[in-house]
Amino acid sequence: MEKVIDLKNTIDLDNKYYLKVVNRNDEVLDKTMNIKKLKFDTILKKEKILLSIDFNSFDRKQYKKILKKLLFIKKMVSKNRIGIKEDSKILLGYIINYDKNSKDQNDFILAINAIFYKTRYERYNYIYDTVCDYLDKFFYGKNLCDFKDNQCGEKRGTSSVVGCCRHYKYKLIGPFCFKWVICEHLTKEHTCGAKCISCKLYTCDYLRKKGIVFKIKDILLLDVFFRPLQKYYIKYMVYTPKEKIIKRLMIT
Ligand code: SF4
Ligand code: SF4
Repeated sequence: MEKVIDLKNTIDLDNKYYLKVVNRNDEVLDKTMNIKKLKFDTILKKEKILLSIDFNSFDRKQYKKILKKLLFIKKMVSKNRIGIKEDSKILLGYIINYDKNSKDQNDFILAINAIFYKTRYERYNYIYDTVCDYLDKFFYGKNLCDFKDNQCGEKRGTSSVVGCCRHYKYKLIGPFCFKWVICEHLTKEHTCGAKCISCKLYTCDYLRKKGIVFKIKDILLLDVFFRPLQKYYIKYMVYTPKEKIIKRLMIT
């Protein structure tokens, strides 16, 4: 999960927002508020605020609390109060002590990006796509499932030549009530046509034995922005297209 940093040390976010990366506190304008100490009533007294995000002043364990508070404040105050318009873009604040190679810090910035989407639907769509991209990149080109002659490591020696992209289906007639069917979303090229996040998060015993497992609580974007029941759906709505999953998240 990456954001582009240009030569002027800025990080472009979506929706015209951007952050400036600075090295010393004295480069930061007076109007900044430490993201760790944001207070709703203090913000209401100010006409405009800029955020200062000093990665040396808080750690990974505090990310969720800080981001949830920022999301709450962003929803409650008028949309022009956070950030300063500069030409066609909006400066959201400053980042200090930034390590561009830190996955945790970059995930925190992605979560800031998510907060400043205009609608909940847009936010969910962004989070969904960002996490799917991350999971796709994690697997890309590694053949972690050890596919050989269309059989993966877990299903070796069985009749399955489509990995775990098949499931039991109930049928109304015949001696047996259930039969194995290939998932309707599997394309001819053996790719997923549904962009199902639940399937992408799934790891079987074979992968778990290799130490590959994805827990929702470890994926910041999923952990911060969804409630427990939504997380349940994200985990268990396998064989389901993206649109249906997002729809379920919106009404849950
Ligand atoms: S996740 Fe497991 S069952 Fe599914 S394709 Fe990979 S190895 Fe096979
Ligand atoms: S929805 Fe799930 S089971 Fe169906 S093709 Fe996509 S990854 Fe495979």
